[in-house]
Amino acid sequence: MILFEDVSKMYRGAPKPALNNVSVNVGAGEFVFLVGASGSGKSSFLRLILKEERPSAGEIHVLGQDLRRISSRKVPQFRRSLGVVFQDFRLLPQKTVFDNVAYTLRVIGKSPGFIHEAVPDILQTVGLAQKAKNFPHELSGGEQQRVAIARAAVNKPAIMLADEPTGNLDPATSAGIMNVLSRINASGTTVIMATHDSGIVNQMQRRVIEIAGGRIVRDEHEGGYETSSVPLGELDTAPIPIVAENADAPAQLPVAQASDPDDVASEFPWELRA
Ligand code: ADP
Ligand code: MG
Repeated sequence: MILFEDVSKMYRGAPKPALNNVSVNVGAGEFVFLVGASGSGKSSFLRLILKEERPSAGEIHVLGQDLRRISSRKVPQFRRSLGVVFQDFRLLPQKTVFDNVAYTLRVIGKSPGFIHEAVPDILQTVGLAQKAKNFPHELSGGEQQRVAIARAAVNKPAIMLADEPTGNLDPATSAGIMNVLSRINASGTTVIMATHDSGIVNQMQRRVIEIAGGRIVRDEHEGGYETSSVPLGELDTAPIPIVAENADAPAQLPVAQASDPDDVASEFPWELRA
């Protein structure tokens, strides 16, 4: 699903590579934490997947496609298979929750009928069915991030990339965000989440890829934030359950239907001109 082969990324003028000979394979349906200190290369890794940056060396394959073979003209189409969530939400402040989620669907030409089913559906999934008519400034940080996740997930992308999505949120609110991301992953979307948040990583017990100085230094299934030096007998191995942020927890995300490539879309409103 996502394959890096000996990938290095050297930014112009930078003294050392942001990524240094990275090889990794992420399979369909996985949930992966990308951890590491600030500056270790996490965002660069995500931007390479999006083809926002080009590797200086090596090959990247995403959804079976060699990224070098995707022309710039085809990049927007390619990105419709990828949902992206950022630390700072990036909602359109003058649009309602519904319209924030519907916006890119409209831009890519989805029918009003599709939009009026898909948007309430995903708002239900993220627990915001009651907030469809509110504006971003009327929501809490956690709610705003759930709108951003709804927007990224509304067209059932094959892959969701989240760059420190809980970075601005308190632990209880972050737990709600993780619940939503887990639900989206359970519906079949591959999730890669870059984070500093050791509490979340330790709770979730998912695959952990750790980067340090642009190199992968650990790739562990069901890992924690740090390799534990605690003797095994003292480890509390049971993962702590993540609790929902709000009680009116949403229903199961509908299973993605097999369809034409246009049907697994999600776009970047901040890159588009209406
Ligand atoms: P992280 O997301 O883990 O904080 P980044 O991928 O943002 O790490 O950065 C990795 C390294 O690459 C850092 O040293 C950073 O300063 C450098 N870097 C990131 N983006 C650029 C850029 N556009 N130009 C030059 N250097 C960059
Ligand atoms: Mg970053």
